[in-house]
Amino acid sequence: AVFAASSLGQLSEVWGEVSAASGAAERLFEILRVKPEIAAPAQPKALPMPVRGEVVFDNVSFTYPTRPDFRALDGLSLSIRAGEKVAIVGPSGAGKSTLFHLLLRFYDPSSGTISLDGVAINAADPQAVRERIALVPQDSVVFAASARDNIRFGRDEASELEVERAAQQAHATEFISRLPEGFDTKLGERGVTLSGGQRQRIAIARAILRDAPLLLLDEATSSLDAESEVLVQTALQQLMRDRTTLVIAHRLATVLSCDRIVVMEHGRIVEQGTHAQLVARGGLYARLAKLQFEAA
Ligand code: ATP
Repeated sequence: AVFAASSLGQLSEVWGEVSAASGAAERLFEILRVKPEIAAPAQPKALPMPVRGEVVFDNVSFTYPTRPDFRALDGLSLSIRAGEKVAIVGPSGAGKSTLFHLLLRFYDPSSGTISLDGVAINAADPQAVRERIALVPQDSVVFAASARDNIRFGRDEASELEVERAAQQAHATEFISRLPEGFDTKLGERGVTLSGGQRQRIAIARAILRDAPLLLLDEATSSLDAESEVLVQTALQQLMRDRTTLVIAHRLATVLSCDRIVVMEHGRIVEQGTHAQLVARGGLYARLAKLQFEAA
């Protein structure tokens, strides 16, 4: 739950300099404009064009600087094909969010290599890496700005038509058009307050607009009302289409829609396969699925 509001604070402690120096938009992790703390290589290697969206973790171990005697990731290897949808599940503290932190280069691995389209990401320009990634956090931030500008945070130079098309694909148009001033309605602190499901659809519209080949999705744990649930799921399917997707999954529907489920525990991958395979195996996934999905 690292991208939840509380942990945004945690992260911005790490990137304190960033939040002190820049405005709200700069602090929005989902648009990935946080200045990388890790050193950019003097001669960054270019990521290949066209982008494919293939991700490889090769024997990656990682220790958070504040907890030097604890391995958040412990020799993890994982190859994700371009376009593949991978659900990450596992108990709290297993290291799921840490995978995202390393891909986004908030930190570098202590050992091992992460590559994107065949290039080690620590040899590339961190900003170039982030440009290829869209992040949809658990708890999306809505700014004190119009609905239109809130979506446009996904890509500043997007035209009105592009913003409206992204809203459409994210199933956000219907509720936005019912707001007092439609797309011009001010949201956030002094404006209209959105429901959880509406905020998520704004975040999905941002990510659609961003149009990055690699999608990192930290699914919300809190339940939405039934109508929002259906709309958010449909919007997510649209967003995941044709993109490599890593999703920290909390919903059965999401897990079932992925090509592969990766089960993590203690910073390692302990099982992987499809839902049916893993349930039949009767291991950690089977136990987690019983707790998590049958309760839902
Ligand atoms: P959850 O489902 O609860 O979000 P997770 O599987 O995403 O858990 P991570 O957030 O990746 O787990 O955390 C892995 C381990 O690293 C945990 O023990 C956590 O306490 C620790 N950890 C996470 N972030 C930090 C940090 N910024 N500094 C120090 N330790 C951290």
